[in-house]
Amino acid sequence: MSDVLNLVRADLAGFGGYSSARTAKLSGDVWLNANEAAWANPGDEGGSCRRYPEPQPAALVTALAELYGAQASQVLVGRGSDEAIDLLVRSLCEPGRDGVLFTPPVFGMYAVSARLQGAKAIEVPLLDTDDGLVPDIEAVIAAAIAGKAKLVFLCSPSNPGGKSVPLADVVRVATALAGRALVVVDEAYGEFADEPSAVSLMGQYANIAVLRTLSKAHGLAAARIGTLIADAGLIAVLRRVQAPYPVPTPCSALALAGLSAQARALTAQRVVQIRDERVRLQDALAQLAVVSRVYPSDANFVLARFHDAEAAFQALLAAGIVVRDQRAAPQLGDALRITLGTPEQNDRVIATLCALKATA
Ligand code: PMP
Repeated sequence: MSDVLNLVRADLAGFGGYSSARTAKLSGDVWLNANEAAWANPGDEGGSCRRYPEPQPAALVTALAELYGAQASQVLVGRGSDEAIDLLVRSLCEPGRDGVLFTPPVFGMYAVSARLQGAKAIEVPLLDTDDGLVPDIEAVIAAAIAGKAKLVFLCSPSNPGGKSVPLADVVRVATALAGRALVVVDEAYGEFADEPSAVSLMGQYANIAVLRTLSKAHGLAAARIGTLIADAGLIAVLRRVQAPYPVPTPCSALALAGLSAQARALTAQRVVQIRDERVRLQDALAQLAVVSRVYPSDANFVLARFHDAEAAFQALLAAGIVVRDQRAAPQLGDALRITLGTPEQNDRVIATLCALKATA
């Protein structure tokens, strides 16, 4: 048994989960074991949805494993990476005892999942440095040990901070917490960054896991396809905890189409374009008197502080542009997060904020 399996809740040892009609490996040509309809719904052209899907569609698992440089046995597909976060927290943390560490300001689902599980939230604020918002690695390690964290979420690139966590820092945390915690590197925005994926570390450090998604660079947010890459033994446990049939057939078909060689080539071109637009928007924002700070970004958004964030937010809104108001997030009382759009949309953002300067 690998060490990471020791991190799973003791009361789940031997838990078999729901045994679905697709669990047993049976064969036949007349399938009458799942109470499905005998005929397809007229709205289901081609009839692909009459039967329950494979719990983990093999073709999709293979495609995602190839995409992310992992083995199929290390892959869990779920309803967005949100589901994987929740599965990890539920499977590893005993309510009232174990902790979940994260680094605010950061993506909110780590806190939500911890709260729902009754796990302790251990918050280690990002440091606001000349290089941007970065995790305090020594503080993360110390707080994880002191707070009995079972899970440490490192968001890389971080949302909304924007910076990647260098792999050397991931290794430091994983090494210090070996046998104590799983270090989950959330790479939802990894396609937009230069830092290589932490998947490359997993052969050496079994307590590293990686989250990826088709919701961002791949443009399939509505398909809800998220991937957890982790130790194969841990993935087997999580598959038993996961709800039956979590990947709807139309979604896996869409994901497979979206991962064809042709689609991937176009996605790669668009990532290059977004990275160019990122520089352009950052440069333009940095010129504006209404902007007090533009943060470095390795993602498809730019975080900026404003002298009057309310005025900027309202001006953008009046121009029909909705950006993310970050003012309720810790340390970000004057900040907005602007997702990079098409060049025309980014032009509109810039023009609107330039006009704000003229009237300020
Ligand atoms: N991680 C991060 C850092 C995110 O910003 C998001 C979505 N905003 C997610 C995970 C969840 O993505 P999804 O569930 O669509 O895969």
